[in-house]
Amino acid sequence: MSIEKKKVRMNKQRRATAKAVRIDPDIVLTVKDLVKTYTIGNSTITALNKVNLTIRNGEFIAVVGPSGSGKTTLINCLGALDFPDSGEIIYNVDAKGMGLDIMQMTNKQHKKMRLNKIGLIFQFYNLFPILTAYENVELPMVIAKKDTKLREEKVKSLLKRIGLEERMEHLPTQMSGGEQQRVTIARALVNEPLIILADEPTGELDTETTTNIMKIFLELKNAGESILMVTHNVRIAEVADRIITLTDGKFTGEKKGGKSIDDIYK
Ligand code: ADP
Ligand code: MG
Repeated sequence: MSIEKKKVRMNKQRRATAKAVRIDPDIVLTVKDLVKTYTIGNSTITALNKVNLTIRNGEFIAVVGPSGSGKTTLINCLGALDFPDSGEIIYNVDAKGMGLDIMQMTNKQHKKMRLNKIGLIFQFYNLFPILTAYENVELPMVIAKKDTKLREEKVKSLLKRIGLEERMEHLPTQMSGGEQQRVTIARALVNEPLIILADEPTGELDTETTTNIMKIFLELKNAGESILMVTHNVRIAEVADRIITLTDGKFTGEKKGGKSIDDIYK
């Protein structure tokens, strides 16, 4: 059997029994003893080594670590893009305290989770090149079969909120990096997710644009959004409420943030 087929079968077995657990309604997500390894040939790399994390409603958390420390792996696991080897990733799916472990979800629950509950932002934007800014933001609502009028209202209001109402008809190639990243922020928000997961959202951007993107993140946090951002940029991480250090797949430290972005780049 091919590795791909084996993986599908394994995941099906794993996800045959989605059992709800109660969690504190104030918690968005709890991660317990998360382990993820990659095997190439004879060598195994432990990318995440028993990671534990709790994110409360409206919290902005930054995870910092150098290249190779496991940041993208963490986002991929929490974002339901990849499966960990072991551990739990329990989301407060109804925002009222009904917790479901993504590893135990059925395929249908898993797909719904990715589409509606998780807003992903990537370093390289990952926009569809043939779709306009408007269409890129609208797409998750189209897939979620949302009504046309609701789509129009939501997409327009989000593009306005992030200051891109003048760029609606632009293709990604007709926008700057900062503008493209703002489109992905709007796209991440469009189905009103439980949490925003961002992987090096300012990795490709200059200082001024980075400042603007961080200001948007802080506005979202102040409006009640929960955000987990991973970055190698220890300076910008200081704007988050909590900064957690990731070293070789382990959380090795935590400190308080809350600095203003203008102080950081003074
Ligand atoms: P970061 O985002 O912090 O740079 P990653 O999560 O991408 O770190 O990688 C963590 C470790 O896992 C690294 O040692 C990396 O080489 C390894 N790794 C990541 N993805 C894969 C993969 N698909 N196959 C094998 N090894 C991988
Ligand atoms: Mg990475």
